[in-house]
Amino acid sequence: MGIIQCSDQSSRRHFLKWSGLTAAAFATRGLYGQGSKNDRKLGVALLGLGKYSSGQLGPALRVTERCYLAGVITGHPEKGEQWASQYNLKKQNIYTYDNLEKIADNPDIDIVYVVTPPALHPEFTIRAAKAGKHVISEKPMATSVADCDKMIAACKTAKVKLGVGYRIHYDLYHQEMMRHAREQDFGPFMKMTGDRGFVFGSRAWRIDKKLAGGGPMMDLGIYIVHGACMAANGAVPVAVTAHEEPKTKPDLFNEVEETIRWTMEFPNGSQCEAITSFNHSADVFRVEGSKGWMDFKQHAFTYHGIVCETSRGPLNLNAVNQQAAQMDDFADCILNNRETLVPGTLGRRDIAIISSIYQAAATGKRVTVEI
Ligand code: NAD
Repeated sequence: MGIIQCSDQSSRRHFLKWSGLTAAAFATRGLYGQGSKNDRKLGVALLGLGKYSSGQLGPALRVTERCYLAGVITGHPEKGEQWASQYNLKKQNIYTYDNLEKIADNPDIDIVYVVTPPALHPEFTIRAAKAGKHVISEKPMATSVADCDKMIAACKTAKVKLGVGYRIHYDLYHQEMMRHAREQDFGPFMKMTGDRGFVFGSRAWRIDKKLAGGGPMMDLGIYIVHGACMAANGAVPVAVTAHEEPKTKPDLFNEVEETIRWTMEFPNGSQCEAITSFNHSADVFRVEGSKGWMDFKQHAFTYHGIVCETSRGPLNLNAVNQQAAQMDDFADCILNNRETLVPGTLGRRDIAIISSIYQAAATGKRVTVEI
């Protein structure tokens, strides 16, 4: 599996000291490494061959142990041919959006991974489920809670699994934060702060409200929403407040927010204050308890290069190929009929929270979160 082993012995000792058995087992054998009897590798078909598929998921599927790239589904047949030669795919495993239903007859393909703009995740998830395939939907799961419900219902009816591309659950740094949240050796994290943004300069689906469902909140802010719930040990915020900042490029951001600040209030009184923007670059997240803190100072939610300091010193854990770990674990869930760590209900929860944040920004009122 795609884990970069730590060559530095002191780092390794630090990692073992810090991360505990679960993470150590994950780092060396994977979450699924013990007692898995079914050794078959499952076939994944990537649907939507844009930047994330080309740059991350395709390469990750070269190092996965429980699944492999068996096919693609694309709106551009010429891309299908390129992928077929690059990944040595069978010609009959290249589908288009129009003939996707034929995948039902293809035993090579077990999982369809939907990697399109968010508004299209529901349609493709439902069609793949009806074709009898397990589905992973990229984040954000959809642009409305109602669509998330339809996706969950379709997968339930078809008796297939539905996962969301929440790769950070498979990252050792974030697992360590979740361990702290669970065991509370820093006390419960009462204060959380986050900032995630990049400078967006040209028109594309990420600022098209119909396709993206919103602006930076849907694309980037979702990581902080998700991370805060992880730091709150899985709790759901009771209420949110939010404020959209004035636009510096109103012509570009004419459909969606450019920058938004928000606060999440959790049942135990803890709070997350955050900002997300398409007007500045940032990727930081900090959580504080009465007995200690963790500070993701760089690349908090990016694929690699996480820099995390804590009140006990710098954290230096092995880098994980998050996408490979996420897909391998999903495959293992299917092979061993267990629930994924990142089910559709988790994607739906985040869309419900984000909908409340947008409502709070639009009304200027504190909005109770209803899941
Ligand atoms: P992209 O624009 O590079 O690719 C989008 C793909 O969808 C393209 O292949 C495009 O042809 C296809 N598509 C189909 N219908 C389309 C339409 N009507 N308009 C535009 N494109 C259409 O985007 P991306 O960065 O690959 O993002 C795809 C999905 O992956 C999004 O949901 C995004 O949030 C998610 N993503 C997740 C991560 C992560 O770390 N989990 C990182 C990047 C992107």
